[in-house]
Amino acid sequence: MIVRSFVAREASMVQPWPASAETWLQQGDRDASDSAIAPPMHLSATFRADDAADFAAMASQPRHSRYYTRYGNPTTDRAAGLIAGLEGAGAGLMTASGMGAISATVMALVSAGDHVIAQTNHYMGTSRLLADVLARFGVSVSFVDQTDLGAFEAAVRPQTRLIVVETPVNPTLALTDLAAVADLARRRGIRTLADNTFASPLNQQPLALGIDLVVHSATKYLGGHHDLTAGAVLGDPALIDQVWNCAIVLGAVLSPHDAWLLLRGMRTLAVRVERINASTMAVAQALSCLPGVEAVHYPGLPSHPQHALACRQMRGFGGVMAVQVRGGYRETEQVMKQLRLFAQAVSLGGVESLAVHAAAMWAGTLDDAALRAAGIAPNLIRLSIGLENPADLIADLAQALGAVR
Ligand SMILES: *Cc1c(COP(=O)(O)O)cnc(C)c1O
Repeated sequence: MIVRSFVAREASMVQPWPASAETWLQQGDRDASDSAIAPPMHLSATFRADDAADFAAMASQPRHSRYYTRYGNPTTDRAAGLIAGLEGAGAGLMTASGMGAISATVMALVSAGDHVIAQTNHYMGTSRLLADVLARFGVSVSFVDQTDLGAFEAAVRPQTRLIVVETPVNPTLALTDLAAVADLARRRGIRTLADNTFASPLNQQPLALGIDLVVHSATKYLGGHHDLTAGAVLGDPALIDQVWNCAIVLGAVLSPHDAWLLLRGMRTLAVRVERINASTMAVAQALSCLPGVEAVHYPGLPSHPQHALACRQMRGFGGVMAVQVRGGYRETEQVMKQLRLFAQAVSLGGVESLAVHAAAMWAGTLDDAALRAAGIAPNLIRLSIGLENPADLIADLAQALGAVR
């Protein structure tokens, strides 16, 4: 686990912290000038300058945390610093949502005439940004099979500026070889952006594998309680400044109140992820043995076609799995109806377990052919495992799956 010290611009904040992620999460953002144990919340939209020279300095410094809250804020900055430390990044930027982070980053890095390489499978919002929005601004995108390194290489053009990856991917749990994609991009001067939401910084660190920028939907594991939406971008300070320049005009600003909730949620990130990794493995193994199950997709299972890659680039395998029920759309709907402990709800990474019938989720936006092309079978259920006792979760799934046999 790499925890590089985050050089906070708030001079009073602790600087180097060569400790474990667990300790970093409790004390990495400690403010030496403040005796409060819990972090303060700065609910102020604007900040006073000492004099004219100070005002000029505040106005011209990128990511100043005490100028105007759309530009930066001590509480949101504190959250950015904590996540940056976990990812081993020199800097971080918070946004109002994961999509705010992804949109600001992509918009900051590409211009009309540029070419982007992305995966055929992405979080739906990312797919729509890449396929619909970028096209309207003269940016072309090639979508490739994330499991096929040769496809990334073959898609490169002289105009290629950016490769966008997401691993494990929503909702099929396929993986992208981060080190290999980073290497082929770097040799050609192409930037790389990885969505690390499904893994969390504790299970996977794309920057250490050579990726340039990491984005998170902090709505998921980082917040961890299904009570806020937030996003984060992590990378080198110069790149983060570039993203910040775009983010401040797009305006996807994280509220300091939600940043404070995020700081509170992150204090328990390490224990949550450790427990969720273990519970999810137990549920995945148990489901693999149930007669009502056709297939279980989880990178931690030896049956996952990319299990060796998962072991190479991940420290734990996370809390999301996909299950294919024996039967079609109708039978899968029956299983969903029978679930008692799993709430039928989108999102993931929180303390409560959630289940989504993937084909139903995409029914309004993708037709059958597009669903099949995206690898989303009509009988696929995405499970996000929370902090309930895994034996109870397994019993709930067993009774629901038993109902269709
Ligand atoms: C949820 C999610 C997003 C979008 O994040 P929001 O916070 O909902 O905007 C992006 N990528 C992945 C992988 C996600 O799970």
